[in-house]
Amino acid sequence: MSRFFSGKYRDLVPYVPGEQPKDLKYIKLNTNESPFPPSPRALELAAQAAKRLQLYSDPTCKVLTDKASEVFGVPADQILFTNGSDEALNFAFMAFCDQSRPAVFPDITYGFYSIFADLNGVPYTQIPLKEDFTIDVSDYIGVNATIFIANPNAPSGLNLSLDQIEVILKGNPDNVVVIDEAYVDFGGESAIALIPKYENLLVIQTFSKSRSMAGARLGFCAGGKALIGDLNAIKFSTNPYNVNAMTMAAGLGALEDEEYFRDNCRKILQNRAWTTEKLRELGFTVADSTTNFVLAKHDKLVGKQLYLDLKARGILVRHFDTPRLTDYVRVTIGSKEEMESFIAAVKNILEESV
Ligand code: PMP
Repeated sequence: MSRFFSGKYRDLVPYVPGEQPKDLKYIKLNTNESPFPPSPRALELAAQAAKRLQLYSDPTCKVLTDKASEVFGVPADQILFTNGSDEALNFAFMAFCDQSRPAVFPDITYGFYSIFADLNGVPYTQIPLKEDFTIDVSDYIGVNATIFIANPNAPSGLNLSLDQIEVILKGNPDNVVVIDEAYVDFGGESAIALIPKYENLLVIQTFSKSRSMAGARLGFCAGGKALIGDLNAIKFSTNPYNVNAMTMAAGLGALEDEEYFRDNCRKILQNRAWTTEKLRELGFTVADSTTNFVLAKHDKLVGKQLYLDLKARGILVRHFDTPRLTDYVRVTIGSKEEMESFIAAVKNILEESV
């Protein structure tokens, strides 16, 4: 650290992304990316946009926002596109949290929430999930804080129903409730439908998972006009051109190709059912996931060692070295071939461990 680093950031512990090693060609089941390439339409429009890169991108994202308005059934002035949904989350922490309005989120959830809170000097409380990693909705009533809930949650893969989300929204009329729907397309129910009913609801989605665009960095928030206005004030005070022109064009192409997207989601669901069944046959405990990953543990295997043994076999999964998750590995659902290789490797590891 240099002696010039601002005192307000000295204690910051930055987010550690899932590893992206370049030493070997791994089967990557560690960062919840899609195994499928982006839609051909997304690639075509991105290539066209590349020819105009001498110009700034449209700071209002008009064409993309109008298309999203049509696809998601939300007025265009209630949508804001961002550089990945991480940026949307950061904007939400900046806009709706401060010393007097702390943040609240589960103890086991997306690891970036606590980091965004620290970055923005926001005090926060983590509410423990129940033993089975589900959220007890009653813990979130009248908490007097801005609430962040990943739904479905990560890395549990479990989701709350819209009725449960409504209980939280009604229980906190004077606070913003942020619902992070990064994985909603794999079996969750979107809270976007609730936006007309609740002025305190902000829904965040990403193009990184179900729309195969993690490397393009595209996310968006949807909510009441006033909330989106606040977030726009933050965006235009930090980076008005937050979404680059190629990504914007690719996003439009992805939204135009609904069929490709639905087809890929269907394949992930099939591969997830197959993987869950195989893991259970091998003695793993695996909750029914509503995401593009599963969280699994085995009585005879140590989570960290399983991660290392898989890595030695060219397969990357994610292990979290925290007390409640240390027994588990989180496995992204890839293509059928990738999941077959994964299950074969797990069988091999189990055979060697007896
Ligand atoms: N929310 C959750 C729950 C996530 O798991 C992720 C991806 N790691 C994100 C948000 C951020 O995704 P992105 O910035 O790629 O849109």
